[in-house]
Amino acid sequence: MAKTKITLEIATEIAERFKTCETRQDVYKDYPYNQSSILYALKRYGLWFNKYKTRPSSIVVAVLEHREMLENGSITAYELSKRIGCTPVYVSVLAKKYSIKLFFTKHRGKRKTVPDEVAQQIIDHLKEHGGTVNSSSRALGMGSQRVQQATRNYARRIGFEAKVYRVAHQRYGLWKILPGIPEPCYTSDYRVDALCTGCGKTFRVMLCNMRAGVSSGCHVCRKNQGNIPIMCRETQEIYRSIMSMTKDLEIKNYTSVRLTLDKEGIFEHEGFTYVYSK
Ligand SMILES: [Zn+2]
Repeated sequence: MAKTKITLEIATEIAERFKTCETRQDVYKDYPYNQSSILYALKRYGLWFNKYKTRPSSIVVAVLEHREMLENGSITAYELSKRIGCTPVYVSVLAKKYSIKLFFTKHRGKRKTVPDEVAQQIIDHLKEHGGTVNSSSRALGMGSQRVQQATRNYARRIGFEAKVYRVAHQRYGLWKILPGIPEPCYTSDYRVDALCTGCGKTFRVMLCNMRAGVSSGCHVCRKNQGNIPIMCRETQEIYRSIMSMTKDLEIKNYTSVRLTLDKEGIFEHEGFTYVYSK
């Protein structure tokens, strides 16, 4: 942070902006001082008023507007978060702050049973993203133990095996793990069915090797990896291979690009992201 003193002129300008800003963060970020220096300067110049308490952000307003729907269960925290563009967790945090009793986590008076549709929604999420009942219910902003238990009961009733999806859909280089029960081998490793997205074939692969970045695709594809097209996510531009991409972008270190793509599945360069296009 800059050491220069905040002048009366600058402090006055900031004070003026505080009166009309949406959030104070918007103002802070335009100045090279830290927040406490700014507040201290405003107080020093007698420009500080408590009425600077800023107007609530649009997210807060949206959550408050949906109070009734959140409370009677006609919208979930997850659905609302998607609609207004924030995380489900933030909706829950705001709900707590503004004493909104979320239908799907807390109940006043007699308990309502968790509807099957909610359990199904969690299971659908689990099927699509992998993980566990608990992780899926949290991701959907419905992570109460009661909902999780109800979902497990529902899964048993319809014969759905959640453990099949525990590591499913995880990606390591070209590998994409398929749903299935990992087969224990050696002392602490597992074999899983994984799809090589380079050629579309399925193999039995050691989980440890994938996670360590030792194995990042089937042998044939690893050999041909140089020929797998690379796509820029932002521009949708396709490069014939890692080699042609590094040449076009004038990146010197071909090997480190390849290793990054293998290990992380994604390579970032000057604000753009590149992935294998298959
Ligand atoms: Zn392959």
